[in-house]
Amino acid sequence: MIRYQITSRNPGSHYFDVSISIDRPDPAGQQLRLPNWIPGSYMIRDFARNLLDLRARDQAGDLAIEQIDKSNWRVAACSGELSVEYKVYAKDLSVRAAHLDHSHGYYNGSSVFVEILGQGDKPCEVLIEKPDAACCVDWQLATSLKRKQAEAYGFGLYEAFDYDDLIDHPVEMSAFTRITFQACGVPHDIILTGRFECDQARLAADLKTICEHHIRFFGEPAPMDYYQFQVMVVGEGYGGLEHRASTSLIASRASLPKPRQTGVDDDYLNFLGLCSHEYFHTWNVKRIKPEVYRPYALQHEVYTDLLWAFEGITSYYDDLGLRRSGLIKAESYLELLAQTMTRVQRGLGRSRQSAAESSFNAWTKFYKQDENAANAIVSYYAKGCLIAACIDLKMRELTDGQKSLDDVMRRLWQDYREQGKGLEPNGIQQLVSEITGIDLGSFLDELIYGTSELPLPELLASVGIEVVQRVAKNAQDKGGKDIEGELPGVDFGAMLKDGEAGLLIQRVAEAGAAQSGGLSAGDQIIAFDGLRLNLGQFENKILRANTGDVWQVHAFRRDELYQFDIVLQVAAETTFVLKIKDQHQQARKAWLGD
Ligand SMILES: [Zn+2]
Repeated sequence: MIRYQITSRNPGSHYFDVSISIDRPDPAGQQLRLPNWIPGSYMIRDFARNLLDLRARDQAGDLAIEQIDKSNWRVAACSGELSVEYKVYAKDLSVRAAHLDHSHGYYNGSSVFVEILGQGDKPCEVLIEKPDAACCVDWQLATSLKRKQAEAYGFGLYEAFDYDDLIDHPVEMSAFTRITFQACGVPHDIILTGRFECDQARLAADLKTICEHHIRFFGEPAPMDYYQFQVMVVGEGYGGLEHRASTSLIASRASLPKPRQTGVDDDYLNFLGLCSHEYFHTWNVKRIKPEVYRPYALQHEVYTDLLWAFEGITSYYDDLGLRRSGLIKAESYLELLAQTMTRVQRGLGRSRQSAAESSFNAWTKFYKQDENAANAIVSYYAKGCLIAACIDLKMRELTDGQKSLDDVMRRLWQDYREQGKGLEPNGIQQLVSEITGIDLGSFLDELIYGTSELPLPELLASVGIEVVQRVAKNAQDKGGKDIEGELPGVDFGAMLKDGEAGLLIQRVAEAGAAQSGGLSAGDQIIAFDGLRLNLGQFENKILRANTGDVWQVHAFRRDELYQFDIVLQVAAETTFVLKIKDQHQQARKAWLGD
């Protein structure tokens, strides 16, 4: 048996104190290791950099520890039970690591628990102790880990089947707010930490609707017997990470439903979409997963072409689930889809990188984006979502509405449940062809491995939806909506924001007006044609300009002043709006729900 113990002797120091006792260590020298990344977030994060004061001893006393590399250690040969202890500095307020202060504690096991090498498949216990500090008196504990000797929401003894299970149930400790509901008979909790005002009954009712929709989509029973939404409420923030029976979320106060709110505003829609996304992952990636993730190798990058399927298909069904469950109208859903189309269309990266390449390079490109990202890469989330839409609509069109991507997802779930199968690189293509009885190989290969424009206008027409393209009104225009008033005819080719002395260039479009004239990201523009402009004034000037006009721009690069002549280019129609037509009502209803 491996017994972990975690507490904090001083939460204000941001240290978790961890100790481990191992009944039967490797007598020749037990190796310990900490993951370098956390499943669901494909970047090397080197959690071991926060580990301090590592010590080991057996019945005879202290043991020497040899460090093998950044996250591996070997304890000297020992006899009998081995004890290990260390501290973990926890001050990363994200869903990926650990955070501790006087107001709350949160951790992912991958940040705080070393694996006992050779015993990763053994069951283990974890004693989670309430810190003995005045600030923690009212703290409770929230986790989807199985209780062994602890009251509900209490500190005490928990257990895990193996190391993989141990690190897949994040733990929140604080004086949190708890909201409970049942979905298809499965108890669910929403755990909210932080200060907020919110319509709790509304939140529970809406999440119940989403959860029941997804459970019924894959088919009852649900794959877990309990589920927890852990929400860290902050002023500004957004993020989520999926786990097998819980999700950790960071959300802004403004995104929670207001008391007396009736409709779904944009902020709340964003939050519901995030909850829907992480919940769908309970099936798609937490259970149905790439074969190369079985098991996860957490010491180094694990490459797969398939993140477009796990993140993209999940991104497709997250918003679609809101529509099909009746939480939002078809028009709202189409607005979200048009915004995703717009996001993909606005970067040159879409013609340079395929969804498969984007997946493969997630570690070094998608997760390490710089100011040139829009020119260089495409998001496997956004493009993957659009690929899912293409596959779904194509299957519906070719089978007269008899088959769809829904059948592919249910079949993947069935294969996992019955045979524990992982997804092979061409698994989706094979299933689509098998389910439709039509060889769609080259169509799918172009979507997944190609960079040509997606056939969404034709496919959406088959469900009576017209795709309209227009130019962007301004930097805030995300697409999806008609715009009142005039639109600009020219494009400056740069993303700008108000700075102290003028306008700061955040990024430039490759071969756009700004870059062709010599400007680059980081330049501080102090004058356009001799005038200092803020962003609103700049947008007003753009509206009055014509293609080919030359603007004299003065800008600081570092502390040196330069002058550039910028030749304005014609604005490209990179913004989408989707419009419902009278045709194909039945096919559209079958797709979007009644
Ligand atoms: Zn996701």
